[in-house]
Amino acid sequence: MNLVLLGPPGAGKGTQAKLIEDTRKIVQLSTGEMLRAAVAAGSEIGQKAKLVMERGELVSDDIVNGIISDRIDEKDCQSGFILDGFPRTVAQAEALDKLLAGKGKRLDAVIEIRIDDDKLIERITGRFTCANCGEGYHDVFKRPKNDEICDKCGGTEFKRRADDTVETVRSRLKAYHAQTAPLISYYGDRGKLSTVDGLASIDGVAQQIEEVLTAIEVRD
Ligand code: AMP
Repeated sequence: MNLVLLGPPGAGKGTQAKLIEDTRKIVQLSTGEMLRAAVAAGSEIGQKAKLVMERGELVSDDIVNGIISDRIDEKDCQSGFILDGFPRTVAQAEALDKLLAGKGKRLDAVIEIRIDDDKLIERITGRFTCANCGEGYHDVFKRPKNDEICDKCGGTEFKRRADDTVETVRSRLKAYHAQTAPLISYYGDRGKLSTVDGLASIDGVAQQIEEVLTAIEVRD
């Protein structure tokens, strides 16, 4: 099953993608994570992306289209993938349609996690992850049981994203509305879109997504 998770920064795409990875045994492909890894490695792509990401703007379509096309060819993507943070522009969506067709694949569904902007700033600026295993936490909504130890792996180091500041989040939301929100009608017009309520709890959103995925499996 090949899926796209669509929604503004902080909607919970990454969290839900990880849950779908577990239930469906398909891989999460997060262009944001790939770009952060490129920045950390200091690669050519990382050097090009770093300042753009710090400003909360979008990296060029050519860079992310190339990254995704190469990644989809890898073996672990053959039974399916969840695109998290890609596509983010209509040009990327068109490129994705084309590259999937060229590889004999198609998208099964696009799931929009819908949530109002005013809820997002608090969600994003409070989040942090375990530096060892990547488990996600939040200052208010999901603290580790012991503040200094990761519940999942026992790691003791946590990190916050450089672009999770109030100022950068505002730019990222602006980019979402101007460049990414048009994808809602792009996929709606193609009969691919399902929308879930992102204001629900993590389990509540997961339950809504589960219903969408089950309906697709029954249909196919
Ligand atoms: P994310 O982790 O999805 O919030 O992405 C973090 C940042 O990486 C974004 O604010 C963009 O600067 C960049 N980025 C991630 N995915 C894309 C994409 N599909 N197109 C352009 N820029 C992206």
